[in-house]
Amino acid sequence: MMEEPEKVRIGMTRSREFGGAIGSFFMVLGLPAGVLGLNILCSQNKCGVQMPKISTNWQTYLDKEAALIYVGWFLFQAFLYMLPIGKVVNGQPLKSGHRLQYRCNGFFALIVSLMAFTGAVYMKYPIQVVHTKFIQLITSGIIFSFVLSLLLYIKARRGPNASLAPGGNTGNFLYDFFIGHELNPRIGSFDLKFFCELRPGLIGWLMINLVFLTEAYQKNNGVLPPGLTMVVVFQALYVADALWFEDAILTTMDIIHDGFGFMLVFGDLVWVPFLYCLQTKFLAENDVHLFWYCLAAIGVLNFIGYFMFRGSNSQKNEFRKNPYNPTLSHLETIPTTTGNRLLVSGWWGLCRKPNYLGDIIMSIAWSLPCGFSTPIVWFYPIYFTILLIHRQRRDEEVCAKKYKASWDRYCERVPYRIFPKIY
Ligand code: NDP
Repeated sequence: MMEEPEKVRIGMTRSREFGGAIGSFFMVLGLPAGVLGLNILCSQNKCGVQMPKISTNWQTYLDKEAALIYVGWFLFQAFLYMLPIGKVVNGQPLKSGHRLQYRCNGFFALIVSLMAFTGAVYMKYPIQVVHTKFIQLITSGIIFSFVLSLLLYIKARRGPNASLAPGGNTGNFLYDFFIGHELNPRIGSFDLKFFCELRPGLIGWLMINLVFLTEAYQKNNGVLPPGLTMVVVFQALYVADALWFEDAILTTMDIIHDGFGFMLVFGDLVWVPFLYCLQTKFLAENDVHLFWYCLAAIGVLNFIGYFMFRGSNSQKNEFRKNPYNPTLSHLETIPTTTGNRLLVSGWWGLCRKPNYLGDIIMSIAWSLPCGFSTPIVWFYPIYFTILLIHRQRRDEEVCAKKYKASWDRYCERVPYRIFPKIY
């Protein structure tokens, strides 16, 4: 039954994730320290686990030009998002039954950003400032994330109860600030969570990679280093894919379930752009020789991961958009009491998270070209596997509550969570 919007009330959140308020406190401090620490440990031809040299000079962290670049980039992406270009798509039904509308022009924003980058290189703008002021850019992102998350919390406190996130309404400031108090914060039709998820950080990550690649190209007298080029191409494919299938994000946990607080703000705006480029940064700063057959094998691995990732995400997304889609009629499904059906064959019959498996395989293909001289370049696949195992458990809890006996039947039919025959 669809409830009247005004009758929807978001109750107090009883269960807390990530170790509750204490866990949130450590995450709010630890995550920024982690991004800074790993980038300090892996920079300028030195990349290893050792006691980092912590500079006490404030200029190592704060810089006006870096702050202007960071904020300017965010505003540039916001401007592109607001342009009335691209299709408008309905989101999944909210608790009230209403659907929010989202403008999908992420791929257009990517193309314009690439053109702007090319223009900057052509005009001889010193793009290497992004590399030389990397730490200051990270600090700018951290400060920006704290300020934005605080404003989002204040906005949520002043807004109606019906717009709060069911998982972020404990009444504890620290926890709600971290996990996200409001589900879909908007300024008019500008959806802050949808915008931040795929634009400034994700496209920013690609721009950072292109800076490294351009620098390496200039340093090597017009020759592109194969390993670095390969990883930049893989990651560019990942970013372009996310933006091409932008509306697929509307059926993900981040949009449907999680509020927009420090966890997602920081993840989108700092963690993704400044940590996901650790491999390319390493390859730009260190010479790594790779035989052509190693490169070919890594290419095949990335392709397998991508095929699995894209195939499963598209299958679920198409099914959620239109369960009667004739191209999916061969798939087996089981009914649930909510009216939604669950896919139990095709990709979703291989394991319960085939999309996570594909993503993990790709993350390994991105680190392999760096070799095994330092564990830091392996941070991404290790952290990502842990993140996705944890995320699978969170999602499983939500689905088990939502679909009850049908979910148990699904788990019986598809016993493995992420890794067939293993987990
Ligand atoms: P999913 O895309 O798997 O979405 C989970 C939802 O899908 C469930 O809550 C449920 O929602 C629905 N669902 C689950 N099983 C089935 C089924 N058998 N049949 C039909 N619907 C089902 O999870 P995420 O949002 O976490 O991830 C989306 C993608 O983003 C993944 O590929 C992941 O790897 C990637 N990702 C990447 C990150 C990065 O940093 N690079 C971080 C996090 C994710 P309902 O039934 O309500 O529709």
